[in-house]
Amino acid sequence: MGWLMRRCSQCGEYTIKKDKCPRCGGATYIPHPAKFSPDDKYAKYKGMMRQKAR
Ligand SMILES: [Zn+2]
Repeated sequence: MGWLMRRCSQCGEYTIKKDKCPRCGGATYIPHPAKFSPDDKYAKYKGMMRQKAR
């Protein structure tokens, strides 16, 4: 369940708390960048549509 972890922007502490860090009360964020971009997905979809049309 690593993707549930959030990281404190103040002290860098990892936490499962959504709103704030249990240690310093700082704001948390999700440290995982999105690995796929929706643009790529749509581009692929468009290509499939084009192939089907012909
Ligand atoms: Zn903190």
